[in-house]
Amino acid sequence: MSTAERPVSSNFIRTMISEDLESGRYDQVVTRFPPEPNGYLHIGHAKSFSLNFGLAEDFGGRCHLRFDDTNPVKEDDEFVEAIKADVRWLGFDWGEHLHFASDYFDQLYAWAIQLIKAGKAYVDSQSADEMRENRGTLTQPGIDSPYRNRSVEENLSLFEQMKNGDFPDGTHVLRARIDMASPNINLRDPAMYRILHAHHHRTGDTWCIYPMYDFAHGQGDSIEGVTHSICTLEFEDHRPLYEWFIRELGIFAPQQIEFARLNLSYTVMSKRKLLQLVNDQHVSGWDDPRMPTLVGMRRRGYPPQAIRTFCERIGVGKGASWIDLSVLEDCVREQLNETAFRRQAVLNPLKVTLTNYPADKVEELDAPNHPQQPEQGTRKLPFSAELYIDRADFMEDPPKKFFRLGPDREVRLRNGYIIKCDEVVKDEQGEVIELKCSADLDTLGKNPVGRKVKGIIHWVSAAHAQKVKVRLYDRLFSEENPDKADNYLTALNPASLQETEALVEPGLLEAKSGETFQFERVGYFTVDSSDSQPGQPVFNRTVTLRDTWAKMKS
Ligand code: ATP
Ligand code: MG
Repeated sequence: MSTAERPVSSNFIRTMISEDLESGRYDQVVTRFPPEPNGYLHIGHAKSFSLNFGLAEDFGGRCHLRFDDTNPVKEDDEFVEAIKADVRWLGFDWGEHLHFASDYFDQLYAWAIQLIKAGKAYVDSQSADEMRENRGTLTQPGIDSPYRNRSVEENLSLFEQMKNGDFPDGTHVLRARIDMASPNINLRDPAMYRILHAHHHRTGDTWCIYPMYDFAHGQGDSIEGVTHSICTLEFEDHRPLYEWFIRELGIFAPQQIEFARLNLSYTVMSKRKLLQLVNDQHVSGWDDPRMPTLVGMRRRGYPPQAIRTFCERIGVGKGASWIDLSVLEDCVREQLNETAFRRQAVLNPLKVTLTNYPADKVEELDAPNHPQQPEQGTRKLPFSAELYIDRADFMEDPPKKFFRLGPDREVRLRNGYIIKCDEVVKDEQGEVIELKCSADLDTLGKNPVGRKVKGIIHWVSAAHAQKVKVRLYDRLFSEENPDKADNYLTALNPASLQETEALVEPGLLEAKSGETFQFERVGYFTVDSSDSQPGQPVFNRTVTLRDTWAKMKS
C-alpha cells in the first residue's frame, strides 16, 4: 500500500525522525526488525514490524530483517523460515537486507579485542553466583571483581583460550570495564561474551564463545547503518550501554527509540508461555487458531490487511498499552465484510417441508456472492420442498419483535421465497422436529405490494446440503488479563473450541484451503489449511458477525 493510500497517523517516533532529517543528523531512514529465531511471531511482533517497515516506507527509506541469533541453544532454522513467511504474509519486504547477528561474529570478536587493548574489557573468572552477588542492587553499588585489573596481555591470552575451546562453559566471561557503582545496573561491567560449547544453526561448531545480545545488538545496527533503532520500553535502560560501546569503538551511532509493547486482553504473549501452551498440549500447536501467533491467526482466517489495520489503529506510545481483543476482531470483521463471499450454512438444523411445492422439483436459484458487490457475480443454490433452517430461527411462542418464524408467521428465505409456517410437528417428548410451511411462489426476488415481511432467514436444501466439520473457536482465556491469576493456565477458557457439524450449500465442498466465507447470519468461516481434504473441507470460525462478548457483559 502506498503512502498516499494509508492514513498516516502521527506519533512521537515519526516526529523524532522528522526532526533528525531536518537537522541533518541523518540523511535517510533505515530501520530494522530484529527477532530472535526462538519461536513464532505473535501479534505483538506484528505491531513492531509494521511500525518499522511502515516508517521506512513512509520516509522513503528501508527496513532490514535481522535475526538476533546470539543464543544458539534456543534458536533454529525452522523459526527463521517461519518468521520470514510471517513478515511477507503481512506484505512487507526487506529486499536484499536479510541479516543475521551471526554474520557479524568475526567483527564483534575483533571489536572485543579492540576494547581489551584499550583497557575497556577484561576476562572475569568469578563464578556466576559470585558475579550475581557482587553486582549489587538498585540501592547498593556493586563490588569490583578481583580479576578487574588483569593486564591487557593476560586478558588477550585468556580471551583467545576461551575462543579456542580451552575452558568449559561458565568458567570465564569477558566483561566491559565500565563502572561497578553506576546507578544503572546495565553499566556495572556487563558481560560481553560467554563460553558456550553449543552448535549454532548457521555457524555450526566454529565458535564456542558467543556475544551477549547487549554486545551484538547495537553494533549490528551500526554495521547496517540503521538510523532509528526502535524497540520496546524494557530496553530503555540498556540504551546508555549500547551508546557506550558505540562511542568506545568509534563507529556509526544509531538513535534508539523505545515504545510500549502491545498487551492484548484474553491472551498471553510471552514466548515462554506460548511454548508451554504448545508443549503441554493446551493447544494443537503454534498454529492453533486460538493462538495469538501470526501462523495461528492465518489458520484462523484473519486477513493480513486486518492485522495491518489493527496495528495502525492502536498507534504507538510510551504508556503501558492494553488493547481489548475486540479491537482486533472488529478489524477482522470490517475487512471480511468487504472481501468474503456469502454462503448459506445451517449449524443447528430444523426440518422445513413446503407442502405446496412439488416433492420432486429442484430449482436452481441465483444468489449473489456479495450483495453489496454485484460485480462479484452469482452462484446457483439448489432449492426443493425439503429444507433445513436454523433452530434458533423458529419459536413456538415468539415475542412480538422476533422477526423470524413462528406459527402462522411469515418469513423470507434468503435468496428465495416468502414462506409461512402452517403446522408445527413434535416428537413424543414434545420437541419440535419439523415445520410444515407453504411457499408463496410469486415472491422470488420481489415483495408484493402491501406485504410486510421483515425477517430473512437462511436455509439449505435437505437433499443437496453437505455435511462438513466445523470448529467454533472462542477466546483462549476467559480472564481479561490471564497473568493476574496465580497460574495463568487456570484462566484458560474451557469452551475455547467446540467441534460440531454444519449442513452447507453444495458448492462449499469445492472451497479451497485458506478461503474465507461469510456463512450468512452465522459468522465468518475459513477452510482449515491442515485438516481439510480435497472435497472435504473443515471450517474454522474466524470470527462471529457481532461482538458476542460485548453483549454478554452488558
Ligand atoms: P524474548 O526476547 O523474551 O524471546 P521477544 O518477544 O522480545 O521475546 P524478540 O524476538 O526479541 O522476542 O522480539 C523481536 C522484536 O519484537 C523486538 O524488537 C521486541 O521488542 C518486539 N516485540 C516483542 N513483543 C512485543 C510486543 N508485545 N509488542 C511490541 N513489540 C514487541
Ligand atoms: Mg527480545
